[in-house]
Order: sequence, then structure tokens, then C-alpha cells
Amino acid sequence: MHLKNKLMILKEAYLAYEKFVEGYKFACRKYCADCCTCNVTITTLEAYYIIDNLIRENKTAYLGKLDNVSKKRFQPKWTFNKFAAFFAQGKEVAEEQCDPSWGRCPFLSKNQCVFYHYRPFGCRCMVSVKCCVENGFAEMDPLLMTANNVFMQFIEHVDAQGFSGNFADVLKWMGDENNKREYEQNLPGEPCQGLVKNMAIPVLMIPPEHRAKMGKLLSSLNSLLKR
Ligand code: SF4
Ligand code: SF4
Repeated sequence: MHLKNKLMILKEAYLAYEKFVEGYKFACRKYCADCCTCNVTITTLEAYYIIDNLIRENKTAYLGKLDNVSKKRFQPKWTFNKFAAFFAQGKEVAEEQCDPSWGRCPFLSKNQCVFYHYRPFGCRCMVSVKCCVENGFAEMDPLLMTANNVFMQFIEHVDAQGFSGNFADVLKWMGDENNKREYEQNLPGEPCQGLVKNMAIPVLMIPPEHRAKMGKLLSSLNSLLKR
């Protein structure tokens, strides 16, 4: 698939998510940023989208903030689709360690995201019905958690030739001109340490009780792939 199409699908998927959560009431507010940690994960397609917009707006200096990211950060060994493939085979996957106390996101400035409009899905889906600061943790409807997984799997699927990883690692990788050029040409590219190869959806992680409710969302995401 051409990169232009992938970017169009990514933007449409972000809009579809906004539509999906319309009916929910969240405690999330401007300047509430406890969820903005150094542990966010992202795909190469999303990193390309962010960097492309930063170039367009002449704001690539923000990428210098990556030097401030905590050395101890979540670096997943599994992508969502790789996990789904193992899960479908009935195999156990050890839970990966991830701790918000490892550090804040370097892209926070005065408790606001410096590229909020281009933020990755991992940030968009971080919502809570109760204030995390008061509650001590985020609280989410189980159906929404299922939808979040579906979107994660879908975005990885669209970027199946790319990689996933901690946002700092993926943005650094995409910030390299050679890597970016190769990505634009749909070449496989060499991942750096911490990046995991993406894959197409093997099976969707939807529990039986949510299958009927996911029908509309799945057909709208499916229609994006046919454009
Ligand atoms: S997820 Fe929690 S910390 Fe993040 S904006 Fe919402 S309420 Fe605030
Ligand atoms: S990229 Fe933006 S929205 Fe995401 S964690 Fe960082 S500051 Fe928060």
C-alpha cells in the first residue's frame, strides 16, 4: 500500500476513534497529564505522521526533547498482532513490566502535549472515567478497552511493513533521514534496538461478549482498507 493511503487511513482511524468515544464521559481535562509518561508505544506510520507534520510546521526542534527521555522506559517485545497470534494458539505470554514512575513524556510542556493534534493512538486511547490523580489509576469501560485493542491491531495492520516500539525509539529511528527515505519507498529498513516488526492482523482480540457490539466499528474500519 502506498504511504499516502496509509496516512489517509491512519487519520480516518483517529477520527473513527473520536466518533466511537463520543458517547463516553471522561474525567480527562486540559492540563491533566499524569498519563503522559515515557512508556507510550507507537508504530512507524504514526512516527512518520508526527515528523511529517513537525517538518511542515517548522517545529522539528521538538525532536531534540527525545534526548531527555528516561533511559528506563517501556520497550515492548511484542506488538499487539504478535500477541494476538500467540494468544490465538493458546500460548501464554509473560506480562511485560511497565511503570509510570520511570518518567514523564519529554513532549509535555506546561502539562500540554507539544504535538497534541498529531499524537499517536497510544496517547489518544489513554482516557479514564475517574480522575487518575485522585483515583490512583485510570478506569475504563471493558468495551472501550476492547475497542482500543482493535484500533491498536488495525493501525499495526496498516503499517504491517513497519515497526512498533517505545515512541522515543521509533521517533529517533524515523528521525534518521535514511530510515525515513527507505520507509517512504516501502523498503523493509533495519530496525534499531528496541523496535519490533509489525504484522498483519492474525485474529482480533475481541471477547465473545463484545463481538456483536463491535460489528459497526469493524465494518467502518474495514471500509477504510477498501478505499
Ligand atoms: S487518563 Fe487520567 S491522567 Fe490522563 S487525562 Fe485522563 S484523567 Fe487525566
Ligand atoms: S506524546 Fe503528547 S499526549 Fe502522548 S504522552 Fe507525550 S505529551 Fe502526552
